[in-house]
Amino acid sequence: MSEQKKTNPSLPVLLGVMGDPIAHSKSPAMHNAALQAAGVNGMYMPLHVRPEQLESAIRGIVALGYRGVNITIPHKEQVMQYLDVIDESARLIGAVNTIVNEEGKLTGYNTDGIGYVRSLKEEAVPELAGKRIAVLGAGGAARGVIYALALEKPEQISILNRTADRAVALASDLRAHGLGDITGSGMEDAAAVLASADIVINTTAAGMHPHVDDVPVDPALIRAGAAVSDLIYNPLETRLLRESRQRGCTVHGGLGMFIYQGAVAFEHWLGIPAPVETMRRAVLDSF
Ligand code: NAP
Repeated sequence: MSEQKKTNPSLPVLLGVMGDPIAHSKSPAMHNAALQAAGVNGMYMPLHVRPEQLESAIRGIVALGYRGVNITIPHKEQVMQYLDVIDESARLIGAVNTIVNEEGKLTGYNTDGIGYVRSLKEEAVPELAGKRIAVLGAGGAARGVIYALALEKPEQISILNRTADRAVALASDLRAHGLGDITGSGMEDAAAVLASADIVINTTAAGMHPHVDDVPVDPALIRAGAAVSDLIYNPLETRLLRESRQRGCTVHGGLGMFIYQGAVAFEHWLGIPAPVETMRRAVLDSF
C-alpha cells in the first residue's frame, strides 16, 4: 500500500464497515450519530464486500481516501495479509476489526477486547486488578477479551469451555505470551472455579437470540455477590444475567462492548474522545 491520498479538509471524513452480510450492521447508525455529535464533517457507510473482493476493497480504502474502516464477519482474519502494519493487540489476537489509513499506510487494530474491558470498568467493575475471573468459552471473542483483561493484572483467569481442549490450548497460548496466570479446563470444573470467581464472563453464544432459554452454565453455581457479564446483546439481558441478578449479582450486558469497540475505533480515526452516550442512544434507537 504505497499510494498516497492527500486529504482535503473541505471534503468529508470517509469511514465505513466491510462485511458479508452487512445490511444488519448497527455500526453506521452508531458512528454517523457520533460524527454528528462531535461536529465532524464525515460519513460512515455500510460496505458489502464479498471474500473474493476483499483485497480490492482494502486497496480501495487508499484509492478513495477513506480515513478508516471497521472489518466484520467474515473478514477479520483474512484482511491482515493486505495491511502494512498490524498493531500488537491485533497480532496477538489474530484478528483485525479496525483499519486506519495514515496517508496511504494501512494499520490494523483490534478494539473488541479493549472495548469490552473499557465497558466492563465503566459500567460494572471499576477495578480489575487482583480479581479472580472465570471466562466461559474459548472462541475468537474470548481470545480478545482475555488478552485485554490480562493487561489489567487480575489475580487469575480461568477459562471454562464445552470443548475442554480449546480452553487448555487457548490458556497455554496466552500464558506463553507472558499474560499471567491463565488456566483452561472443561465444564466439569465449573462448580469449583465459579465458587471462588469475583467476575464471571460469558463469551459463548449460549443464550443468544433465538435460543434465549439456553445458559452456558447453571447460574446457581455462581456465588451471590459476584459480577456476571455477558458478551451477548441480543437479548439485552440474557437468562444468565437475569437469574444472576435475581441471586444478588452485579450484571453487565454485551451492548457496552459493541459501543466501546466502536468508541476506541472512532478515537483511532479522529483523535478526539468518542461521544459514548450518543453512540449508545443511537444503537438502542435502532433496535
Ligand atoms: P466462536 O469463535 O464461534 O466461539 C464460540 C464459543 O461459544 C466456543 O467456545 C463454543 O464452545 C461456545 N459455544 C457455542 N455454543 C454453545 C453452547 N450452546 N453451549 C456452550 N458453549 C457454546 O464465536 P465468537 O466470535 O467467540 O462469539 C461468541 C459470542 O460472543 C457470540 O454470542 C457473539 O454474539 C458474542 N460477541 C459479542 C460482541 C459484542 O460486541 N458484544 C462481539 C463479539 C462477539 P465449543 O468450543 O465447545 O464449540
